[in-house]
Amino acid sequence: MNAAVAIVGGGWAGLACAVELSAAGLPVRVFEAAKQLGGRARRVEIEGHALDNGQHLLTGAYRETLRLMRQCGADPERLLRRLPLELAYPRQGFRLRLPRLPAPLHLVAGLLAAKGCPPGEKRAAARFIRALQAQGYRLADGLSVADLLDRHRQGGILRRLLWEPLCLAALNTAPEHASAQIFANVLRDTLDGARENSDLLLPRVDLGRVFPDAATRFVTAHGGEIRLSARVGHIEQLAMNGEKFAHVVIATAPQHAAGLLRENAPTRGLAALLDGYHYEPIGTVYLAYPEGLDRLRLPLPLLGLSGPLGQWAFDRGQPGDASGIVACVLSARGAWDEQGDDALAAALHGELQETLARALPDPDWHRVLRERRATFSCRPSLPRPPAKTALPGVWLAGDYVYADYPATLESAVRSGCGVAREILNAR
Ligand SMILES: Cc1cc2nc3c(=O)[nH]c(=O)nc-3n(C[C@H](O)[C@H](O)[C@H](O)COP(=O)(O)OP(=O)(O)OC[C@H]3O[C@@H](n4cnc5c(N)ncnc54)[C@H](O)[C@@H]3O)c2cc1C
Repeated sequence: MNAAVAIVGGGWAGLACAVELSAAGLPVRVFEAAKQLGGRARRVEIEGHALDNGQHLLTGAYRETLRLMRQCGADPERLLRRLPLELAYPRQGFRLRLPRLPAPLHLVAGLLAAKGCPPGEKRAAARFIRALQAQGYRLADGLSVADLLDRHRQGGILRRLLWEPLCLAALNTAPEHASAQIFANVLRDTLDGARENSDLLLPRVDLGRVFPDAATRFVTAHGGEIRLSARVGHIEQLAMNGEKFAHVVIATAPQHAAGLLRENAPTRGLAALLDGYHYEPIGTVYLAYPEGLDRLRLPLPLLGLSGPLGQWAFDRGQPGDASGIVACVLSARGAWDEQGDDALAAALHGELQETLARALPDPDWHRVLRERRATFSCRPSLPRPPAKTALPGVWLAGDYVYADYPATLESAVRSGCGVAREILNAR
């Protein structure tokens, strides 16, 4: 069967689009430049362990991602560990946990019960959320997260250990440069929706098994084809190979989409818009602690490191099964990026010891993974393109296309599903 739709890029956006179209009976062909699927959220094998190119965290608000996982037979309940939102910085004695109460009570109760911050700050934080609610989470153009926090008098411990880390984790952009509007959208959908939306969903398996593997099985079982090591150099190339596609979906990162769009006069302006994007790195440092009776377990699956270099430490082990592997996450540009791998791993080992307030054995091995262009820098008033381009039948999908959100798995999936719906409606 001839594919009706060519999808350039087998990241989560391209795969989401492929699954949606396949489910509707439209055959697709996915062209992926790399040897594997998943793009910026993919499995990597390190020292015999199936790990990821970067530690990822999902939330209960990832509605479309969870729906699509179920659709292609990847059971979220089995593959993801669901935990009530809990942020803990043991070194500072700070802990905030949202109880299992109906929203928005869970937020109020969680804030009031937070440990390690003064009551005045808790009240100010509750007022801040109420003010955002009252204005329907709509903010003035051009406002940064730092401006927003200043305006609402969010200082002290909650600024340092709650709002700023949430901004970095969600937008991968420092609060002084990050878009307040996009931050507010994230708060709206995670903290102000159903209680479950604020849950943290930690992968129990590598990212390939969370979605790309199941998506591949689904697409091929529905008559689609996935070609790996198949870089598309020009959009016309898809027609030149004697293959006719009614639609082409460019589901690459923005910098790669710009390369494909620049060649055609009608999309040159769009390419120039994407050329204006800035990018932020993310580092993931795996520290593997030795086997033995006291093999390392973190007291919580996710701990705040509070720097000066690291932000979070994730326990890669599962309940009842300690792997001894800790993933330390370093979001956005920062001092960490200047350090060599060994020095960085040693510094994070030190920060982990301070956080746990005990000496740890030296790791058996460490591995530093740096994604230089992990996400677009989520700045105020950043122009986001529509999915439809000026070239007939050529569409854009990708995390940057879903304008409400920063670069996340959910925005990638929502944009892929959105394009699929537009293509189906255009039939
Ligand atoms: C280290 C790291 C940590 C992250 N942490 C989180 C997190 O905790 N939670 C979260 O929600 N998000 C997180 N993200 C963001 C999330 O991974 C991305 O937003 C999402 O994966 C982007 O998906 P995409 O499909 O839009 O793009 P991509 O994943 O970039 O996929 C594009 C694909 O297109 C392919 N390609 C490019 N050019 C061509 C071409 N010419 N021909 C064929 N194929 C091509 C690429 O090889 C790639 O596979 C993180 C990202 C990184 C890097």
